[in-house]
Amino acid sequence: MNRVRALPLLLAFILAGCVATTPAHSEIPAPTQKTSTTAAITPVPIPAPTVATFDMTLHSIDEADSLWVVADKLRRLKPKRYVPSDLKTINVPHTYPPALRRDAARAYIKMFRAASKDGVNLVFQSGYRSFSTQVSVYNGWVARLGQKAADLQSARPGYSEHQTGLSVDIASATGGCTIQACFSKTAEGKWLARNAWEFGWHMRYPKGKTSITGYAFEPWHWRFVGTELAAELHLTPKITLEEFFGLPAAPDYAR
Ligand SMILES: [Zn+2]
Repeated sequence: MNRVRALPLLLAFILAGCVATTPAHSEIPAPTQKTSTTAAITPVPIPAPTVATFDMTLHSIDEADSLWVVADKLRRLKPKRYVPSDLKTINVPHTYPPALRRDAARAYIKMFRAASKDGVNLVFQSGYRSFSTQVSVYNGWVARLGQKAADLQSARPGYSEHQTGLSVDIASATGGCTIQACFSKTAEGKWLARNAWEFGWHMRYPKGKTSITGYAFEPWHWRFVGTELAAELHLTPKITLEEFFGLPAAPDYAR
């Protein structure tokens, strides 16, 4: 009698054990991967790192003809009378003869066209200036303002970014404020502040950085550094080339 009663219990125990060992997710479809005796194992590509690395040594910051040359009051161009070998004159609205180095000239034309499409009329105020032109420009400022004030506004010959052929002063066709801080409030100034970086241009003398650059806020002065560096600089508002490259502040000329 006892054995007869024990049998169903034993069966129930075994069945329960079977249910428990059956995978709970047995309704998940089996993998559809085809099995083939000839299939090779395909290596899974390892994704590239998502952290962008920027090569700060890609171009020299010392050579006068380098795209990234940094000229300031402590970093005179070498040679002092450097003349770029690839100057181009471009056909855009201008005040003075519009010459820049080849790549900068192309970038300016692109930017000028993009601005025109947005109804913004850029005027090329001043681009490449030779050593001797800078002599008269600088002396003109000294005559008007005195040397101290002139040094905040204009570079001494041999120290000017304009002599590299990579810088341009831009004016507004309608808004006035030419070579004045209020240029930043004109349609042209606003457009440049928003968009110039996409064409490889950098605002070289931002507001509040006179103690580093040695120059007053110059929203009209744009320096061509190429699209890669301009995009990198654009990530940090108002950064200067001195700060980016870890160079000493250059508020004044060495005595
Ligand atoms: Zn300038």
